[in-house]
Amino acid sequence: MAGPKYAFFKGQIVPIEDAKISVMTHALHYGTGVFAGMRAYWNEEEEQLYIFRPYDHFERLLQSGSLMRMKLDFTPEKLLGILTDLLRSENYSENSYIRPLAYKSQETLGISLHDIADDLTIMAFPVGNFVITDKGAHLCVSGWRRVDDNAIPARGKVTGAYANSTLIKSDALLAGFDDALILNQDGHVAEASGANVMIIRKGVVITPPINANVLEGIVRRSLIQLLQDEMGIEVQERNVDRTEVYIADEIYLCGTGAQVAPVTHVDHRPVGTGEVGPITRELRELFFKVVTGRVPKYRDWLSPVYSAEQIASR
Ligand code: PMP
Repeated sequence: MAGPKYAFFKGQIVPIEDAKISVMTHALHYGTGVFAGMRAYWNEEEEQLYIFRPYDHFERLLQSGSLMRMKLDFTPEKLLGILTDLLRSENYSENSYIRPLAYKSQETLGISLHDIADDLTIMAFPVGNFVITDKGAHLCVSGWRRVDDNAIPARGKVTGAYANSTLIKSDALLAGFDDALILNQDGHVAEASGANVMIIRKGVVITPPINANVLEGIVRRSLIQLLQDEMGIEVQERNVDRTEVYIADEIYLCGTGAQVAPVTHVDHRPVGTGEVGPITRELRELFFKVVTGRVPKYRDWLSPVYSAEQIASR
């Protein structure tokens, strides 16, 4: 992995080698961190790097922090300023993944959240150019259940809750699948280990509601808008049964990592024809145009990293 060379750590941008924490750190023991996963997309013609929906990501990060009783002295605007400086230091000219992490940084053991110091770090590394592949994923339905809102809120993006995701993902991979769909405590489909899910039945897109123990995904929210406003497709946010997945015409996962990832098989059953479906294909193409700044109407979802002077002096 090329990079990262730097991290924002303890209030400043430092060489990545200097961004180290102690084994006594509270978050390491109790999973008391909250994080974001963001992307910046490279636009070759403009020689510009566009951060996708940074305000939404930072707002969710700060909300996750407040769920975990963190006192973070940051606003989304301030965080975007820091991230822009960090990406300028890295000087990336390719698609990049960004990982902000707020955590209980105090070097103390003891099970509580209040009156324990917090800190926030950000790092970013290149993820190369995405390949628009026609190969769909094969998912299983996991035997594990999603963490429940009354246990660890899935909408919180809490590091400790990702123990649930790692159990699910590893078991799926070791059983030969690409990922898994997870049922919530009610037995309805929630999401995948690190992405939201949408199924299509008779031209209608259906996705579990935000109170189904799913992460309130920013790509999910973006796709709902693109489907309705640009493609004229009805979207229903409602509970999804496991067997609806088996008879869906199309399925895809969506999220910062997955982007729009077609699913062509679930539990050894073909989804529709077993090929990537037409709505998924069209949506994925539109999504990639939007995130790389090629659709003027959605330019306000993007935040450019480089100034005009920096681009001119390249
Ligand atoms: N669900 C889970 C469990 C995730 O980890 C992610 C990735 N952040 C998502 C959904 C998708 O969310 P987003 O679109 O905000 O990346």
